[in-house]
Amino acid sequence: MTDTRRILTVENLKTYFKTPNGIVKAVDGISFHLDKGETLALVGESGCGKSVTAQSILGLIKVPPAKLTGSVVFKGQELVGLSDDKYRDIRGMQISMIFQEPMSAFDPLYTIGQQLMEIAKVHMPWSYQEAKQRIIDSLRLVHIPEPEKRYSEYPHEMSGGMLQRIMIAMALLPSPELIIADEPTTALDVTIQAQVLNLMQELQDSYNGSMIFITHDLGIVAEIADRVHVMYAGKIVEKASVIDLFENPLHPYTKGLLTSRVKREYKKEGKDLPYIKGHVPKASEFSTGCRFHSRCTYATETCKTTMPPEIETEKGHRVACFLFERDDLVENFANAKP
Ligand code: SF4
Repeated sequence: MTDTRRILTVENLKTYFKTPNGIVKAVDGISFHLDKGETLALVGESGCGKSVTAQSILGLIKVPPAKLTGSVVFKGQELVGLSDDKYRDIRGMQISMIFQEPMSAFDPLYTIGQQLMEIAKVHMPWSYQEAKQRIIDSLRLVHIPEPEKRYSEYPHEMSGGMLQRIMIAMALLPSPELIIADEPTTALDVTIQAQVLNLMQELQDSYNGSMIFITHDLGIVAEIADRVHVMYAGKIVEKASVIDLFENPLHPYTKGLLTSRVKREYKKEGKDLPYIKGHVPKASEFSTGCRFHSRCTYATETCKTTMPPEIETEKGHRVACFLFERDDLVENFANAKP
């Protein structure tokens, strides 16, 4: 029976790039799903494949030269292999993207109103007056003061926080069913970050859309997401609800990420700051084994040569790590100090 709540199903998605240094496996066989009204956070360090995942879903990866395989089903329609024309009907209309850098998303030569009108003209069957009114309403919705006046102003007349809010208005204008937000608050200062996050939550609650929120910041995940997938070197290494992930992180990488987050506490107590030693391996130099093995305290010989399978430890909590195949190892790991 078809699950009517399911909006997106990604299965074994692989996005590879051919480079002079070899094949870069930016995304390497990831699977996940998203239901209506849900927010899924994709978390990991930069270069782990989060943004390429978003671009692959949106059809923004040029194929060829890149190679994209697997399946991305959005509302029952397969997106992998879809023509550019068909993608254009979906992108911006049913799936919108909010980018990290608000400044670069706007053309400095056109007013905010002109740029939002362009989107309205392409995607919506509204008259000019109706479109203008809807744009002004959407600016008001994202708390832009004096939206009628701002409509005729240029991007350089706005602050970074204001532009980011306008980008959210732009993404919401066609009432998309899925929003992909790629580090939407990274370029903003902390106070504005909090305002933008509150706004996104407020809007999502009111229109019940689904969202994939890409971030490297676990603090943001705790505030905004229902479920979290932790990515490392092109793979998803742990999948859990937000509560499970924070209360019972399983993968050594997730544990390291969470420990690095509480560094302020360590500082206060005069202890050394914990961090994940080493570096993410280059995507052109992945070994056949667990990609975290060179940084993992628990790595065994098997880990160096064999990719760990994804194991479900409890409902909705999955981890790709050999430790969870043996109870004695799990016990040692659970009791280990960071
Ligand atoms: Fe560490 Fe091995 Fe688990 Fe990878 S599979 S995270 S190397 S214990």
